Amino acid sequence: MSKFISARLKELEAYVPGEQPQTMRYIKLNTNESPFEPSPEVKAAVTSGRAASLQLYPEPDCTELSDALAGRYGVGRENIVLGNGSDEILNFCFAAYFDRLSPVIFPDITYGFYKVFGDLYGSDYTQVPLDSGLRVNPDDYIGANKNIVLANPNAPTGIALGLSDIEKIVSSNPDNIVVIDEAYVDFGGESCVPLIKKYKNLIVVMTFSKSRSLAGARVGFAIADSGLAADLNKIKYSTNPYNINSMSQQAAKAALESDEYYSANCNRIIDNRNAFCRRLEKLGFDYLPSSANFVFARKSGVSGLELYTRLKENGILVRRFDNPRISDWLRITIGTKEQMETLAGALSGLTEEMK
Ligand SMILES: *Cc1c(COP(=O)(O)O)cnc(C)c1O
Repeated sequence: MSKFISARLKELEAYVPGEQPQTMRYIKLNTNESPFEPSPEVKAAVTSGRAASLQLYPEPDCTELSDALAGRYGVGRENIVLGNGSDEILNFCFAAYFDRLSPVIFPDITYGFYKVFGDLYGSDYTQVPLDSGLRVNPDDYIGANKNIVLANPNAPTGIALGLSDIEKIVSSNPDNIVVIDEAYVDFGGESCVPLIKKYKNLIVVMTFSKSRSLAGARVGFAIADSGLAADLNKIKYSTNPYNINSMSQQAAKAALESDEYYSANCNRIIDNRNAFCRRLEKLGFDYLPSSANFVFARKSGVSGLELYTRLKENGILVRRFDNPRISDWLRITIGTKEQMETLAGALSGLTEEMK
C-alpha cells in the first residue's frame, strides 16, 4: 500500500478469492464452479457474429440478453440489470443504497464480499449471528426495519430458506431494500423472483457463474422493480457502461437457449451431492443439508486446516475459512461423480490415518 491511498480505504481488507492454480492440475472443488463445460451452442456463440466484432464496443444496454432474461424469468426488460458477474451487481447495490445513514444487516457467516463492500462504501452494517445450527433465523430479519442482504441458499452453509420466509422478510420491511442473492438457487432452492411484481423493495441477484458454467465470462444480473433497476443502472452508467463484453453477452444469451443442457447438469450435481453426503455420513462427518452445489462438512476432532492441507497434498483443493466459528468446516464444491469418488477415497484414507 502506498501513502497516497485515501484515508477511507487504508484499513479496507479486500476480498480474497479462492485459489485458482494455473500450474499443477488439482481436482478443483474450492470455488463452486461447474465441473461441466459450457454448452456447444455457447462455445459457438463466442466466436461468431457480434462476439467476433471486437473492434466495436459492446452494446451497453445488452438488449438481446436482457430480453432473453426477461422472457426466461417472466418479467420485463425494465426489470433487468446486467453486471460483470453478480459481484458487480452487489457492488451496485451497496453503492446505491447502503451508506452511513442507511444501515444494512447480513449474517455473520455468509458470502464474504458483503462485508468487503460494506467496508468499501463505509456502510453502517451489522453481522447477525447464524443460530447454533448455522441457520439463518428469519425472525432476526422480519420487521428489522433495516436494509437486508441474504444469500439464499446461504454460502458457505448451503442451507436455504423457503419462499414464505423470504416473503415475510420482504413484506415486513417495506421501507428498506432486501437483496436476495440467489447464486445457487438452481441447485434446489426456491427462487423469489415472482415476488418482484408484488414488492418494490426486493432485488434478486443471480449469476451465470455456477449453474450455467460461465464463471470465466463474468455475467450476473439483478431482477427487481423497474425503479430499483433504474437505480442500479444509474450506477452502472456512472462507472462502466460497457461492463459486459461482446463475447460474454453472446455466451450468456446462448446459455439461456441451452436450458435443457444446464438443467440436466444441475440434476447431475444434485445426484452427486446426495451420494457424496451419504459417503460423508459413513465416514463419520457432520454436514449441513445443502441446497447448493457444495457441501459444508467437518469431522469432529480434526482441524479444518489440517484436513484442507492433507487434501491439497493429495491433489484436491477445497475451501477453508479463518473465521473461528467455522474454522473446522470445509466447503466442498460438488464436482463430477469421478471427482467425488476420488475425494471420498482420500477422505477415507486420511481419516483412517488421523485416528
Ligand atoms: C459465487 C457467488 C457470487 C458471485 O458470483 P459471480 O461470479 O460474481 O457472478 C455471488 N454471491 C454468492 C453467494 C456466490 O457464492
